[in-house]
Amino acid sequence: MTVITRFAPSPTGYLHLGGARTALFSWLLARQNGGKFVLRIEDTDRDRSTQESVDVILQAMGWLGLDWDEGPFYQTQRMERYRQVVRQLLDEGHAYYCYCSREELDRMREAAKARGEKPKYNGKYRDFAGEPPEGIKPVVRFKNPLQGSVSFEDQVKGRVVIHNSELDDLIIARPDGTPTYNFTVVVDDLDMGITHVVRGDDHLNNTPRQINILRALGSRPPIYCHVPMILGNDGRRLSKRHGAVSVMQYADDGYLPEAVVNYLVRLGWSYGDEEIFSRQDMVKKFSLAAVNSSASVFNPEKLLWLNRHYMQHASTENLAGQLAKHLALKGIAVGQGPDPVDVVGVLLERAQTLAEMAEKAGMFYTDYDAFDEKAAGKNLRPAITAPMRVFRDRLEALEDWRAAAIHALLESVAEQFELKIGKIGQPVRVAVTGGSVSPSIGETIYLMGRQRALAGLDRALKYIEKKAEEFS
Ligand code: GLU
Repeated sequence: MTVITRFAPSPTGYLHLGGARTALFSWLLARQNGGKFVLRIEDTDRDRSTQESVDVILQAMGWLGLDWDEGPFYQTQRMERYRQVVRQLLDEGHAYYCYCSREELDRMREAAKARGEKPKYNGKYRDFAGEPPEGIKPVVRFKNPLQGSVSFEDQVKGRVVIHNSELDDLIIARPDGTPTYNFTVVVDDLDMGITHVVRGDDHLNNTPRQINILRALGSRPPIYCHVPMILGNDGRRLSKRHGAVSVMQYADDGYLPEAVVNYLVRLGWSYGDEEIFSRQDMVKKFSLAAVNSSASVFNPEKLLWLNRHYMQHASTENLAGQLAKHLALKGIAVGQGPDPVDVVGVLLERAQTLAEMAEKAGMFYTDYDAFDEKAAGKNLRPAITAPMRVFRDRLEALEDWRAAAIHALLESVAEQFELKIGKIGQPVRVAVTGGSVSPSIGETIYLMGRQRALAGLDRALKYIEKKAEEFS
């Protein structure tokens, strides 16, 4: 048997971490069995589905490297097929028209509640053979079995048993003929030959209904794997409140897809005490049976830790390319400053994400707006004017433009003026970057280039002069 799995997002928003994890588990199952992974867009809710959401979901799947073998199939393009299956169920006596009005259904519900029962459809038109009431466009309901129970062996949750008495006759087509959600899923899973349904456990309640419809269609149900949800650290369902939940937000925030994928696979699944999984590793070692049946808690620090790990193991060229993209997002073209490869070399130890790296690299590509007041007040004082001027002139003339040579120059000026290196280093840092934090002075000046460094030093010397005038 070829394993065929699917991911079936509803395009009503971005791809969030929970959805991405479901997609990943489903993808892994297909890949480790040499099977197929199908992508299906469940867009029948036309009010809430948008092309924009479809685009971002596909983009996120691509970014995560979750490639699909078939699809994307769009449910809105399969309407004719759903109509055909509704017809089949009607013809075979597995479905019927129901003419209850909304008011009647409301009354039915109220009456059931008053009896202390679960509000449910009472089967009024199940075996109706009379003359249908005038002026009512009927819905089509599935004839759920009245006796017995539905049971299945969920790969994550274990055995699930639901009595048919708890299930009422599900509407499968609305008065305008459009199919309902649970029905389209069944038809698609059947037509697409899905062998394993991996989905969020918020769908667990739908499963017995779907199994009954599948059986009525003469099919054997697939294997179900209901993956528990992801919670924030406050025990509530993961949402924007807990930080970014959209997969592409992580791309924008400078995370590597390898880190996000590795984080997601470990969310609810473990393999001994291993934390780092390459893609091949995951495919080899992942097992649904080892997925935790209770909810997992999202831990942003761990994701950051993994990101750092993957950044440190990525090739410099790869990181440089990504850094360039993040700089571009900030309106910085790499042509206006150093080679990003050199920047990565200097900033790799200092940044946990590529966005943070781009933030820190800004000083090598653009002039700062103004001095950080506190840093300037503390470091740009008249006593530093003479050494700074000497450093400035010698920097202008420096032939050997390397970080080490710039550093040696700073040391030599410090020695000449009998200053500790920090006493001149920090003022120079403020002069060239505008603030008090940067990589070593040698690296900083090397990367920003001679022109920008000299401009900063001149600006600082002027600032000191002006301050001195104000006080005299
Ligand atoms: N479209 C559903 C969702 O996005 C998934 C349904 C399924 O996997 O069966 O939640």
